[in-house]
Amino acid sequence: MAASSASSPAPESCGTALPLLRGEGLPPFEAITPGQVETAIPQLLEQLNAELTALEHTLQKRLQAISNGAAPLSWAELMEPLHHLGERLRWSWGVVSHLNGVCNSPELREAHQSQQGAVVVFGSRAGQSAVIYRALGQLLEQHQTSQPGETGHLDATQLRILEAERRDMQLRGVGLCGAEQEAFNAATTELARLASDFGNHVLDATNGWTLRLSDPAEVAGLPDSLRKLLAQAARQAGQEPGDADATAEHGPWLLGLDMPRVMPFLKYGARRDLRETVYRAQVARASSGELDNRPLIERILTLRGEQARRLGFASWAEMSLASKMAGSVGEVEQLLEELRAAAYPVAQQELEALRAIASRQGAPEADDLKPWDVAYWAEKLRQESFELDSEALRPWFPLEQVLQGLFGLCQRLFDIRIVSTDPGEAPTWHPDVRYFRVLDGASGASLAAFYLDPFSRPGSKRGGAWMDECLGRSRTAAGEPVLPVAYLICNQSPPVGETPSLMTFDEVETLFHEFGHGLQHMLTTVERPQAAGINNVEWDAVELPSQFMENWCYDRATLMGMARHWQTGESLPEADYQKLLAARTFMGGSATLRQVHFALTDLRLHSVWSPDGGQSPEQLRRELARTTTVLEPIPEDAFLCAFSHIFAGGYSAGYYSYKWAEVLSADAFSAFEEVGLDVEDEVVATGRRFRDTVLSLGGSRSPAEIFEAFRGRPPSSEALIRHSGLVEA
Ligand SMILES: [Zn+2]
Repeated sequence: MAASSASSPAPESCGTALPLLRGEGLPPFEAITPGQVETAIPQLLEQLNAELTALEHTLQKRLQAISNGAAPLSWAELMEPLHHLGERLRWSWGVVSHLNGVCNSPELREAHQSQQGAVVVFGSRAGQSAVIYRALGQLLEQHQTSQPGETGHLDATQLRILEAERRDMQLRGVGLCGAEQEAFNAATTELARLASDFGNHVLDATNGWTLRLSDPAEVAGLPDSLRKLLAQAARQAGQEPGDADATAEHGPWLLGLDMPRVMPFLKYGARRDLRETVYRAQVARASSGELDNRPLIERILTLRGEQARRLGFASWAEMSLASKMAGSVGEVEQLLEELRAAAYPVAQQELEALRAIASRQGAPEADDLKPWDVAYWAEKLRQESFELDSEALRPWFPLEQVLQGLFGLCQRLFDIRIVSTDPGEAPTWHPDVRYFRVLDGASGASLAAFYLDPFSRPGSKRGGAWMDECLGRSRTAAGEPVLPVAYLICNQSPPVGETPSLMTFDEVETLFHEFGHGLQHMLTTVERPQAAGINNVEWDAVELPSQFMENWCYDRATLMGMARHWQTGESLPEADYQKLLAARTFMGGSATLRQVHFALTDLRLHSVWSPDGGQSPEQLRRELARTTTVLEPIPEDAFLCAFSHIFAGGYSAGYYSYKWAEVLSADAFSAFEEVGLDVEDEVVATGRRFRDTVLSLGGSRSPAEIFEAFRGRPPSSEALIRHSGLVEA
């Protein structure tokens, strides 16, 4: 049986022949053309806008009638049409965005861009509709004034969906009136412009600095891959005669401040003076002249504080936490302090170890290590302690074997069976794409399906890896179940000739990570689509299943079960397994401390900083650096000026989420460690409980409640601290 039935078109698309407007079932990917995007999306938006207007009119009349004693408003009158509107847009626009990511072409990109603005406008219109907001309030009031079982009383899932919907609209300012709302909207617009200016300044400052190296002594220590990259940059820039013929071997080499060039240069560059030059330029980005981000930072923080107060919150941080799992600023601070206290002494020891190796190798800077020495000596220490060549491990991880290992683990833990389908059983967008079905281990019933698009296709497929929703668990208008279908996208090397796709260990971890997101999407048992799978899961809890799955890559039985040489069938040598374990915690104190420094700076800027507090954002950060860094930032270090995550991205007062979710995932894995990873029936029982809680309940309950249902207690940071190598074994 197909995971979802695509046999009958949605009623509202009767009479249109456009595949992009079908609105249900597996998308007919190959039938969708860029030209169709430009015809179908405007047509769809026109329909949806008309239906939204009609819904608003109906609701307006109903609310009026209710105030005159008519029957209460029902869930079906408000939430179902609202979901239906959103879902039709999600289905059609989801296909376009998906194809834009995996089958890009200049035509498709242009078609996508031409419609994106209108799609966003429709979302804002629905999200700021005053009538809908009042109707949501009506549902809530009916719930609050009724008893369980009475008309108008909601179940726990409905209540969570309703509250999230109301909260999101409140955060868009729908509850404000008159001048207050005008000021709110004006500030929202200004904040969007400031964020974009901030990002552009960082980009321009990054691109505006280069250093041309032409003496081979200047590139001493650099690996061949980096020399190639630098020579290629020189050829592309063509700054001086001779650059056109730049080679990895003879140069010239052009250094820049982008991550792919800076990070390895600081790690491998033997010339200390050049590391210093590059480092100083890098940390001072966007902090002077026309590109100075400092005034923008103050303005952004000031406006955010005002916005939060307009909505009744004490600070932007409080407002950010209103929609997250973390309950309060204090709760986040406490977690960060636990991690800081554990990481700080370890980071100090790590710095000592770097001084010691510099001294052993006779480096004059040994007693006075500077920030531009840290990555360099850390790499030397790593090579001395364990030489792990990630390329050399590839033959032990052919894709097919890794998939069997992953699927076998899922069968063992979650009692599901994953079966491949024959080509042609489901529509796809590329011959490399495979379609799998997920069956319940006990009953054999179909639960879900997923697409796996494993290989990189430079030029037409976006880099990175992700999981996305193709279809969510729901029911058709006729009441037929629709099973969830996921997109799992990776970017590993394709097979070459007789050689299968051989993965690095990082790629194996990435596949497990994305599959964890996929499991939460696919194994949901929630009946209401608004809270099924990853829908309605708080932002700081959504990485729990994904990072949880990564832990299994380090589990001896799981890893050794799948890591066998693709030609000889030999197991991964024990020494290599030990190196993988060592690499996981290498410089773990410094890495944790660095994340704590960023997270705490972000949180304090958005909770305690104020424009008239007599302290600049920069001063606040430096004060925090005293307890969250082991090497003081140098005077020109203007890190905040390039902290795009919080000033140009979506992480403001949310940077802590990285560590928050890691606490949850490490603690969840430790439930398996506690029962014993080799005690089979206990592992199986714990896995089943994970499926029945975290993977099944999705956004239908609060993440804290779900976590406790699995773990039997609230989350603890102990496991993460231990896994990060911050306590003695
Ligand atoms: Zn993720």
